[in-house]
Amino acid sequence: MRSTLPLALIGAGHAHLHLLANRHRLPVGKVVVVEPGGFWYSGMASGVLGGQYQSADDRLEPARLVRQARKGGDVQLIRARLTGLDTHSREILLDKGQRLAVSAVSLNVGSRTLPDAFSTNEDNGITGTLTEVPIPPLWTVKPITSLVKLRQQLTTTFAQGHAARLVVIGAGASGIEIACNLRALAERHGAPASVSLVSRSTEPLPDAPSGASRWLIRHLRKRGIEWLDSRSFQRRVAGGVLLSTVADDASKPEYVEADHVIMASGLAPPKVIAELGLPVIEGRGLAIKDTLQSTAAEWVFAAGDCAAMINHPLPRLGVYGVRQAPILLDNLAAWYAHQPLSHYQPQPQALTILNLGNGMGLAVRGRSWFAGRLAMKAKQWLDRRFLDPFR
Ligand SMILES: Cc1cc2nc3c(=O)[nH]c(=O)nc-3n(C[C@H](O)[C@H](O)[C@H](O)COP(=O)(O)OP(=O)(O)OC[C@H]3O[C@@H](n4cnc5c(N)ncnc54)[C@H](O)[C@@H]3O)c2cc1C
Repeated sequence: MRSTLPLALIGAGHAHLHLLANRHRLPVGKVVVVEPGGFWYSGMASGVLGGQYQSADDRLEPARLVRQARKGGDVQLIRARLTGLDTHSREILLDKGQRLAVSAVSLNVGSRTLPDAFSTNEDNGITGTLTEVPIPPLWTVKPITSLVKLRQQLTTTFAQGHAARLVVIGAGASGIEIACNLRALAERHGAPASVSLVSRSTEPLPDAPSGASRWLIRHLRKRGIEWLDSRSFQRRVAGGVLLSTVADDASKPEYVEADHVIMASGLAPPKVIAELGLPVIEGRGLAIKDTLQSTAAEWVFAAGDCAAMINHPLPRLGVYGVRQAPILLDNLAAWYAHQPLSHYQPQPQALTILNLGNGMGLAVRGRSWFAGRLAMKAKQWLDRRFLDPFR
């Protein structure tokens, strides 16, 4: 064994759930889990927003995970955030000022909404009469707790019989799910709501087969979701948002009224990743080799959204963290035992199933796709298969 110092698991992401469930296979005296909140399962997050699930269905409590993991060996939970690493003394630095010497670190801290989402300007440049009108609040798809709070707020609004104008920015998988589930939430309360989906591209889900994108446009129309394509979000202003035309940035901005703005325009690694003093790939995450180790520190491992494989640019999907987990476990065990490490080879295509809110789903894998209730049932089955063992 390399050291009596603990292994630090930073973040209770998908891969670390697997490590905790297999604690007995980690040949180290103590494991420390650093986690500020809890594991929120993004696969069911838009279903929570739409009222299909309760927030408790979507969350795993780290203290419970740690209690279960103790059957396999010593595990301690520290409710804190990683703020840095001292790569010389091999210490982790936490937000409460704590420092902890470790033998190795594994990072699974996920991702955050892109920072440019937060730009705002009170002067909308449209008319002086709107200055009394508040700037609509901005909600982000990550952390998932933001969607939980949005549901609470809209539920109150709808229960009081008020309408809501909802604008979703970004028409990738999460933006489409959010728009459709906002419509589902309003329907559940019999409330009037307008939902608009803003996209830079001409089609939703631009990487999907064109048949799936066309089906989605028809589906959005049927669900009463306004499709605003070829437009770029500029900023929030009094009572709405300003959009520009992608083809003509210099054109007069378009003003769209909004009571709430939801950003689903892309994910970036958490800020701390760039502050570790280790190589990163800009916008993607900590640079890691196929062994899931940092390119500069063999004692630092990473998986999931915060990790950028130098040989395989991967989309930000929880499924990759899930697939990396067994290799991460094997490699940490091998590293402590001075054995050779394995290489993670990502699957060429991953299955994504979108929750479209009214019992409908859209399943896409490479160039194949199908839509309907069966797709949503398949998603529910897969979600349960992943979560149930950790409950
Ligand atoms: C609305 C929505 C729907 C999605 N649906 C799907 C889907 O159906 N299928 C799919 O594959 N992907 C989906 N995704 C993508 C998915 O969210 C991410 O790819 C996935 O969550 C990444 O998992 P992870 O294991 O890397 O980290 P996460 O599961 O995000 O976990 C990260 C953990 O790290 C903790 N943490 C963060 N910062 C720190 C810190 N500084 N110190 C300590 N701990 C920290 C957090 O509290 C969290 O527990 C969806 C995303 C969104 C926004």
